[in-house]
Amino acid sequence: MSSIETIHVDGVWQAAAAGETREVLDPADATTLQLVAEGGAEDTDAAVAAARRAFDEGDWPRTAVAERSALLRRVADLLQRDREEIALIESRDTGKTLEEGRVDVDDVTNAFRYFADLVMNESGGRVVDAGSPDVHSVVVHEPVGVCALITPWNYPLLQASWKIAPALAAGNTFVIKPSEVTPLSTVHLIKLLVEAGLPAGVANIVTGAGLPVGQRLAEHPDVDLFSFTGGLVSGTKAGAAAVSGAKKIALELGGKNPNVVFADSCATEEGFDTAVDQALNAAFIHSGQVCSAGARLIIEESVRDRFVSELARRAEKIKLGRGTENGVECGPLVSQQQLDKVEAYVASALAEGAQLRCGGARPEPSDVRPAAGYFYAPTVLDGCHREMKVVREETFGPILTVETFTTEDEAVALANDTEYGLAGAVFSADTARARRVAARLRHGTVWINDYHPYLPQAEWGGFGKSGIGRELGPAGLDEYRESKHIYENLRPEPVRWFAG
Ligand code: NAD
Repeated sequence: MSSIETIHVDGVWQAAAAGETREVLDPADATTLQLVAEGGAEDTDAAVAAARRAFDEGDWPRTAVAERSALLRRVADLLQRDREEIALIESRDTGKTLEEGRVDVDDVTNAFRYFADLVMNESGGRVVDAGSPDVHSVVVHEPVGVCALITPWNYPLLQASWKIAPALAAGNTFVIKPSEVTPLSTVHLIKLLVEAGLPAGVANIVTGAGLPVGQRLAEHPDVDLFSFTGGLVSGTKAGAAAVSGAKKIALELGGKNPNVVFADSCATEEGFDTAVDQALNAAFIHSGQVCSAGARLIIEESVRDRFVSELARRAEKIKLGRGTENGVECGPLVSQQQLDKVEAYVASALAEGAQLRCGGARPEPSDVRPAAGYFYAPTVLDGCHREMKVVREETFGPILTVETFTTEDEAVALANDTEYGLAGAVFSADTARARRVAARLRHGTVWINDYHPYLPQAEWGGFGKSGIGRELGPAGLDEYRESKHIYENLRPEPVRWFAG
């Protein structure tokens, strides 16, 4: 495979039919990492046709569950074999640190192993009591068909795997379109699927832009399921196109996630240090380019001054640089477009009266921070309130806003005051209070005294405009399966409903 042959259709690596290419940039210095194929409508149609044939005529949907499960396990082993290589690809493509890249590979490996086990445990079907010994009634699962999978640039390998592993476990075929900004690790993953022995046509990838490739997949009549992870605007647009063709849809969209800190969590030095450290991690890991980032600190007024001062002091010390350099803690933003967006959000917040506690600018270049890279300093904005754009909208950058409360009800109201509902956290030393508040938060994942961990066996997804459907967990497999009820009459006889 030459570098521009990044489209995989019916088992063949190829360049774009129209010969178009795209430069994938290194966000740390804006140089070209690799030239990839820029797919178009023709490539998309060919990929869907291949997936359709593999589903309708191929063996994969009818392959024994144990064999499908074994293939997923082989993929997991190959991911671990290539762990360093993939972590490096992900780090250079997205800007994240090498260590974060390694964590992603391990998480993805766990997801493949989880779905390999889950599908085995659930392969027998469910016998339903029909109320008669003369009836055998069973609900079985079947694959949905051809799946179109669209992924974003922040966790390219992870988001692809949360879709691909359950889709394959359930016996589907698919076409994936990774983000045009960061397609490289997904291309590598498809190579591993091929190496693991997946039949031609089952796994297809078209590298290219949302328009035309993503939109074409959403509209394509031969696609049965459309699963999208990305932003609210493009997701709802693509989702509407998919729904108009009565496809099954799953949308994993953005978040504006509250991190609620009660003063009692800071009553001891240890508690204070933990809550500050977790708030830092919540907001600034991967430079805040995380759908579940704790971008809204909602803190009890009595500890605000001390907490925010310490937070700003530590945020200023975060080591920014190229993700592959030793000692670097945060990489650049992914693109110039993302950098422009973050700068505009900070400018609008300051114009609306927010107080800058740290950051708010691009850092000075250094030996690990080329001047052309898309770096932005971790930024803490105090004195924020819901009318501010920076509080309402997802900035997807290293910006932490601070709001305060004095009562528990007020904390809950602020935390739920968002059109999204992806994730949130509550820090409190009072277990009853922490659980009470967690129960009232309208978010798909709630952490108590922690931030960011997730488990492949627990569903991931959002309330409100954070999306439709769930990934991971049993529901994450069900997204890719149809239920079929087979009702068998063991003693057939006329029903005599009609007398004539
Ligand atoms: P984006 O919406 O710009 O792009 C996501 C994908 O959609 C890309 O592959 C893009 O090419 C494609 N696309 C764009 N327009 C399309 C269209 N009209 N039809 C079909 N496909 C189209 O998002 P992004 O900037 O790549 O990613 C950031 C967003 O992703 C954030 O909002 C973040 O919260 C969200 N996200 C959500 C989760 C989650 O689990 N809920 C996880 C990661 C990222």
